[in-house]
Amino acid sequence: MSGVVLDGKKINREILDELRPRISALTAKKRPPALAVVLVGNDPASQIYVRSKVKTSHELGIRGIEITPPETTTTDELVQQIEPLAKDPNVDGILVQMPLPKHIDAERVMSYVDASRDVDGFGVQSLGALVQNRPAPRACTPAGILQMLKRYKLPIAGKHAVVVGRSDIVGKPMALLLLHENATVTICHSRTQNLAEECRRADILVAAIGRAAMLTADFIKPGAVVIDVGMNRLTDKAEVQRLFAGDPARLAAFGKNGTTVVGDVDPKAMKELSSYYTPVPGGVGPLTIAMLMANTVELAERHLAG
Ligand code: NDP
Repeated sequence: MSGVVLDGKKINREILDELRPRISALTAKKRPPALAVVLVGNDPASQIYVRSKVKTSHELGIRGIEITPPETTTTDELVQQIEPLAKDPNVDGILVQMPLPKHIDAERVMSYVDASRDVDGFGVQSLGALVQNRPAPRACTPAGILQMLKRYKLPIAGKHAVVVGRSDIVGKPMALLLLHENATVTICHSRTQNLAEECRRADILVAAIGRAAMLTADFIKPGAVVIDVGMNRLTDKAEVQRLFAGDPARLAAFGKNGTTVVGDVDPKAMKELSSYYTPVPGGVGPLTIAMLMANTVELAERHLAG
């Protein structure tokens, strides 16, 4: 058996295409939606994420405002830059790219991003609304995964979902979204005993761990839907050859670039055992950006209503 690929790029295009007329309508009637992106320092991975977020906003006609203070910025200085944005009636969403440098008090910074502009859904008010299943921006990665399951018409209600990872930005909100869709949800983490046994009970398995190919064949119930959130960069040739032995295209690309990414699930086991699965890359990643744009447009519609 070979699982069906859940194509994140296709769902990304669908979501963005649905947003275009809404953005045009806002622009024609009032102004374009506006997203402020704050990136502190020069972390290369964060720079790549921010660049692609800003690029996608521009392509859609969303106004992107980039704020890039240096690594040495203090919490107070950062707050001074965010505060005016949080009061600006022409800004719909504020995204503070995580992780912030260690010396910055992230909680204090985020407290200045009020719920009406919390486009990432990371603030306490947005998280509280999620717990109560009330409207508020939802964390983009789990919201994108839910869109993927719904658009592929994969049943959730009554299914046993196992989420491995309990971060505030992926694992926890994912578990709550699945719960609100009436799945029976188990949340696993680094202290879970018999992880493989827990995972094997999953009809829907979501891996958000950050450990290269950690979930192997023993963790997957045959026929499960497997969602692999992990993005782990590999540079070790022997490991890449072992993980991608049956994938000549990937091995050739690795030969050329000297690096590749793998998820938290063993790619071969996932493909062979699942009924549906998200590839890495090209699965969950494109959904995160699409939902960020969707959240921005929704906030703009709310701000510009009437
Ligand atoms: P965190 O590091 O914040 O959380 C990781 C979670 O995994 C923790 O809850 C941790 O448990 C758990 N964990 C770690 N080791 C084990 C283990 N051996 N067994 C069981 N559980 C374990 O990561 P994030 O949630 O931010 O991200 C997870 C992954 O998803 C990363 O690879 C990240 O790059 C990727 N990601 C991808 C995105 C995309 O758009 N594709 C977006 C966001 C993230 P504990 O709480 O006990 O420490």
